Amino acid sequence: MVSLQSIYDLTLAELTAVFKTWDQPAYRARQVWDWLYHHKVTGFDAMTNLPQPLRERLQTGFQIGSLEPVTELRSSDRHTVKRLLRLPDGQLIESVLMEYNDNRQTACISTQAGCAMGCVFCATGQMGFVRHLTAGEIVEQALLFARQLEAEGSRLSNVVLMGMGEPLHNYDATLAAIARLNDPDGLNIGQRHITLSTVGMVPEIRRFADEKLQVGLAISLHAATNEERTRLLPVNRRWPLAELKDAVRYYITQTGRRVTFEWALIARQNDTVEQANALGNLLHGLKCHVNLIPLNPTEDYAGRPSNPVHVKAFQAALESHGISSTIRVRRGIDIQAGCGQLKSERLRQEQTNHNTGDGES
Ligand code: SAH
Ligand code: SF4
Repeated sequence: MVSLQSIYDLTLAELTAVFKTWDQPAYRARQVWDWLYHHKVTGFDAMTNLPQPLRERLQTGFQIGSLEPVTELRSSDRHTVKRLLRLPDGQLIESVLMEYNDNRQTACISTQAGCAMGCVFCATGQMGFVRHLTAGEIVEQALLFARQLEAEGSRLSNVVLMGMGEPLHNYDATLAAIARLNDPDGLNIGQRHITLSTVGMVPEIRRFADEKLQVGLAISLHAATNEERTRLLPVNRRWPLAELKDAVRYYITQTGRRVTFEWALIARQNDTVEQANALGNLLHGLKCHVNLIPLNPTEDYAGRPSNPVHVKAFQAALESHGISSTIRVRRGIDIQAGCGQLKSERLRQEQTNHNTGDGES
């Protein structure tokens, strides 16, 4: 079946332009927008203040969203929901909803199917790059959670662009999605409640800094020397630490925001006190915070998560350099809630079924 264009791929200006070609006034586009992003309706029929012929015309031209839920898993503590979604071309992506004790509801969403960056410990990196997501596909992941939460009397409060893919490699669609997430007539999520995580694409970090948004920036660091970082994150060869640090400093100057560095702790690989000291020296003088995340083991990487004793010692060493850090609990480990892990699991299942001749619906 040929799918129609998702209406979420349009900006309000683009929808207004389409309506103009249909001889419809601009206020009609605004009404549609309100139904889409405020009421979050799932069908054009629900747009009751539109004339019937216009609803029919919309129906033949567009569909409301294009993501098809494939599976949904809830962690045993029930505070994490992980979704596998199918794109119109059959590709699979993941998004996760995390509920925190202070009532924050955070959606972790994907920006690409697969990823070209090849970080050795990452399940998405292990799949390789498939394609960029459109702005509509990025926004819709958050909207699906927002719709569900609102039906339960709650609200989506935060969005992190930390799912599958490298957001700055898909710069324009990511920025368009952020604008829509933030827009008071869109999902109305404050810029300070949105965080973008990058592997460290230096020119794009500078470009992002020039946007002067108040969106949070997280940098996946994971190592404090070029030799070690290149081993884990091949992109470090292209943008080594000194250049990355300059770009981060530029971002801080442009935005006044503190930057977060992410560090996946891998047992005896990057969790020694010596490495914590190297990190302390690297970050000296930068307005920043470090998130320490014990590694989520993946199929194609032999590394293991750090022992909690080593995690504490690492944190204490950082503290002695005046660097604040948080030990983050990996959410939903029982539901493969690491980036790309649910999809890898699904692909493995499909492969097994295929090999054993089991049909799958
Ligand atoms: N591409 C972006 C955002 C998506 S990955 C980036 O790399 O920053 C989100 C975060 O999860 C990154 O910090 C990434 O390094 C981390 N990550 C990926 N695989 C992981 C794993 N197996 N265990 C722990 N963290 C992982
Ligand atoms: Fe891509 Fe981020 Fe995974 Fe690296 S960690 S492969 S940049 S998704």
